[in-house]
Amino acid sequence: MTSNTAAVSLPDLLALIEEIWGYRQLRPLQQQAMEAVLAKRDSVVVMPTGGGKSLCYQAPAIHLARCGRGPTVVVSPLIALMKDQVDSLRTLGVAAAQMDSSLTPDQRRQTASDLRSGQLDMLFVSPEKLVGQQSGGGSLDGGAFVQLLRDSGVQTFAIDEAHCVSHWGHDFRPEYRRLSNLKMLFPGCSIHAFTATATEPVRADIAQQLQLDDPVRLVGNFDRPNLIYRVLPRKDMMAQIQEVLDLHKDEAGIIYCLRRRDVDDIVAALNIRNKSGGPKALGYHAGMTAEIRRKVQEEFAREQCDLIVATIAFGMGIDRSNIRFVLHTGMPKSIEAYQQETGRAGRDGLEAECVLLYSGQDVMTWKSLIENSAAEAKFAGTPISADYVPTALRHLDDLDRFARGAVCRHKALVEYFGQRYVPPAHDSETAPGTDLSCQACDHCLGDTEPVADALVIAQKILSTVARTDQRFGVGHILAILRGENTEKIRQLKHDQLSVHGLLKDHAKADLRNFVYQLVGQGVLTQENMILQQGRSAPILKLNHASVDVMKGRRQVRLIQLVQKSAEESSKSRSKEVSWQGVDHALFDSLRAMRKQIAAQRGVPPYVILSDATLRELARVRPTTLNALRLIYGIGDAKLKSLGDTIIPLRGR
Ligand code: ADP
Ligand code: ZN
Repeated sequence: MTSNTAAVSLPDLLALIEEIWGYRQLRPLQQQAMEAVLAKRDSVVVMPTGGGKSLCYQAPAIHLARCGRGPTVVVSPLIALMKDQVDSLRTLGVAAAQMDSSLTPDQRRQTASDLRSGQLDMLFVSPEKLVGQQSGGGSLDGGAFVQLLRDSGVQTFAIDEAHCVSHWGHDFRPEYRRLSNLKMLFPGCSIHAFTATATEPVRADIAQQLQLDDPVRLVGNFDRPNLIYRVLPRKDMMAQIQEVLDLHKDEAGIIYCLRRRDVDDIVAALNIRNKSGGPKALGYHAGMTAEIRRKVQEEFAREQCDLIVATIAFGMGIDRSNIRFVLHTGMPKSIEAYQQETGRAGRDGLEAECVLLYSGQDVMTWKSLIENSAAEAKFAGTPISADYVPTALRHLDDLDRFARGAVCRHKALVEYFGQRYVPPAHDSETAPGTDLSCQACDHCLGDTEPVADALVIAQKILSTVARTDQRFGVGHILAILRGENTEKIRQLKHDQLSVHGLLKDHAKADLRNFVYQLVGQGVLTQENMILQQGRSAPILKLNHASVDVMKGRRQVRLIQLVQKSAEESSKSRSKEVSWQGVDHALFDSLRAMRKQIAAQRGVPPYVILSDATLRELARVRPTTLNALRLIYGIGDAKLKSLGDTIIPLRGR
């Protein structure tokens, strides 16, 4: 693959990365992705969020420009994302610019002239800027712009968030579709598509839509080992939120809610606590004006606020790399959505916690939302595809099973995306490959434990469903088992059943969880039954596997939470490792310094230095510029511009 390119050896490229970024190692697939760019071979590169996609086109772009092979054009969907990247690159001393609707005519002329005179290594553009908004060969403006790029010798295109070209993806954008013109507009160019979306149909569609020529296909590992996943039944939501906040004092996080109303309620509750020293929380949802939303995003990016309470409207364009926790107060609608939303945590590679508060109620809420929106669309005559409802329900079901599941979360997620899970090597005594624990999820960290008499409990639940003729939902079944004496129970004479009160020693929330776990294992079925007035309610039914359980021919596994102190549950292996030897006070002063410099330069703090770099600084405490240059994330430009500020801060 290295054959027809100008003499570029891998060591040259590594030296360049070291010099500019201060990184001494490549992450998985980065080398192959860069080789494809340098060899002008089209490519589709799939890496999870935080995997390091940008470096794959940025480093080759600099190299190509230095060898006189023209600037690289990077297509990106959001102006905010482009601006962040351009700001970051400029801090590194790289000649990058953007071309989009936010520029003044003067800035536009300047960028065009820099481009023509060969002074730019990279140009970030929006898709509509590149190929125009109308069909055909591009609008007048698009046409002139294409000519400018041709005159400037552009031969290489990187397409960020490339899943936007595909109908199959979760974020289709019509203007991306028009990128299929690129190969025609720039004959002989190479196109490199990057995305974090994993599914095979989307990948194939990207290659087809962009008319790629026998592309190199690189698919990274989807595991995010630095994320700690915890799924907890939702009990007392505010108390559970508080617990997470207590574990992440002074750290950045996002609290996701299903409804706008929840956002407002939680923000209000948190801001009352804020008066007594809690963190400041800002809300974000689609019901707010664009102006307010922009301000909230900016405050978060600039570290003026560390806590956002939001609906899923908040996300795209959030590049802050030091988000230390993502808390879902309700269930997302699919595993893809969950992966994407939790993926915003820990992009700097340091540990981060993802907590999902789970409730069977949410499943019902989503189901009726999905069914209602289909019914509304039908009523309004809006065409929706025939498989909309079944597909949405299947996605919901997958997440539901994941949440209730009793297997390692990392394993479950990675396998969902069609990959085999390989746990990271632990420095324990166990032989490699024998320790299947991820050390980073609720199950593997011992937050949960198997219930000893699972089979007996399951049999009691199933026989109650049988004795009541499979006509009731979870609530009533549990009321019977707990021996309640309600009007409904007396009326139906269910207090006379032999199962009445059989599980009265268990808490209702735990039992409810067991029922969902049984459904998750396929030994009990939940069906929607239509009641009067078109309403529907979920009813528990038996299936053939239920019979096997009742006869004791089939085992079941039930898990329950282990009661732990907050301190115990906050402990996790990766957390200890990445803070080992770090001088916390120094870390805090470095963070304050970073914020101040960022404010002076008008860029977000993470553009100045990452948290990983701050921690290493606070661990190594370099006292000379030479020592500073060896720190992760410190390249030549940062050494020059920040050295004199950092060195004096060396801890007490
Ligand atoms: P993605 O676009 O895939 O979500 P980014 O390109 O934003 O990920 O990279 C995530 C973080 O990892 C960034 O802070 C980036 O600078 C850093 N990074 C990328 N490659 C490396 C590397 N080889 N060594 C160290 N850090 C890296
Ligand atoms: Zn695990």
